[in-house]
Amino acid sequence: MRFADIIGQKDVIDRLRKAKAEDRIAHAQLFLGPEGSGNLALALAYAQFINCPNATTEDSCGTCPTCKKNSSLQFADLHFSFPFFNKPNPKETISDDFGTEWRNRLLLSPYFGVEDWTKELSKDNKQLLFSVHEAANIVRKLSLKSFEGGYKIMIIWMAEMIGENVANKLLKIVEEPPANTLFFFTANSSENILNTILSRVQVIQIPKIDEASLSEGLKHLGVDEHKIADIAHYADGSWDIAMRLRENNDPNEFFAMQFQNWMRHCYSKNVPALHAWSEKMNELTREDLKHFLLYALDQMRQNLILNYTTENISRFTSSEKAFAQKFSPFINHLNIEEIMLELEAAHRSVGQNVNNKILFFELSMRIFRLLNRKEKA
Ligand SMILES: [Zn+2]
Repeated sequence: MRFADIIGQKDVIDRLRKAKAEDRIAHAQLFLGPEGSGNLALALAYAQFINCPNATTEDSCGTCPTCKKNSSLQFADLHFSFPFFNKPNPKETISDDFGTEWRNRLLLSPYFGVEDWTKELSKDNKQLLFSVHEAANIVRKLSLKSFEGGYKIMIIWMAEMIGENVANKLLKIVEEPPANTLFFFTANSSENILNTILSRVQVIQIPKIDEASLSEGLKHLGVDEHKIADIAHYADGSWDIAMRLRENNDPNEFFAMQFQNWMRHCYSKNVPALHAWSEKMNELTREDLKHFLLYALDQMRQNLILNYTTENISRFTSSEKAFAQKFSPFINHLNIEEIMLELEAAHRSVGQNVNNKILFFELSMRIFRLLNRKEKA
C-alpha cells in the first residue's frame, strides 16, 4: 500500500512524511481514527514508506522487492496483532492462528471494521479479544533480529480491545522496544484505550474522510456520475461504507441512504439540497415512494425510542445505528406525533394526481420546521 492509494487524509500523510524526513519517527504511535477513515491503511502505507529503499520524500516506490512484499503482506519484518476468538481447544490461541483470514481480509481492503472482521471469523456472536498468549507472541516476534535489515514494524489493530492483563505484559517492550522496532497501534476511539497504553504512544488524529476525497475516490473507480454525490454524502467519512454502497442494489440500503441524506438536509436547514433531493425522489415509482415513506415512519419510531431509552435497538443496521446516534435527539415528544402524521398523509397522497416533487418538497419544509422545534423548547 502506498500513500497514493489512500483516500484523502492529505494532512495526516504530510505529517508522516515530515516525521520521516526529519528522522524523528516515534517508536510507538497510535493511528486514531473512526471506522472507515483509513487508520489501518495509513499504518500500512507508512510501514512500506519507512522500509522502501527507493522511497522519495513523497511516497514508497511501489515496485521494489520490499514494496512488493509489503503490499502482498509477505514482508518478514511486518507483523500484525489483532483481536480474535479464543479457540475452545486447550492450545494457546494467538492471532497467527487466524493469519490466513486476516491476510485475506486485509488484501481485499484495509478499510474494514470490527463487524466485518467478526463475520470473517465466525457466525456466532462471540467476543473478540487479545489473549495473554498474544502478548507473549508479540514480545517473542519482536525479540527476533530483523530479517530484512530495516525496521521491524508491529501493527496492532483495535488497540481499544487490549485488556489490562495484556497491556501489562506489553508495557516494557512498548516503552523500550528493541533497536529499529516500531509499534503502530490503530484504534477507532481513545475512550476505551487503557491509559497505560495511551500515555506511551504518540497519537496521530485521523479525521473522517472529507466528502470531496470520497467523491474523487469513487470517480476513480468509475462509479456512475449521478450516484457519486449521494454515496459520498451518505458514507459520512467512511470509505468502507462508500465501497459497500457502490454495488449495493438492496432497496432498504437505498432507502436508508435517501432517508439519512434527507434528514441531514432537514436538520441543517439546507433548502437548496432539499430541492435537489425532492427532484430525485420524483424519479422513483409510486410503489417505491410508498415503500420509502414506510421506511421513514419506521426509522422515526426507532429514533424516538432510542432518544428515550438506553436500550440497544437490534433492528437497526450498523449504518442506521451510527446515524441514529446523531439524529435521535431531534425526535422527541414535541414533534413526533406531527412528523408521523405528515409522513402518513404523504403516504396516502403519493400517486394520487399530485406532483411528487412538490409533495416531497413541501413535506421536507414541514419536517424541517418540526425537527428544529426542539431548539425553542
Ligand atoms: Zn519500494
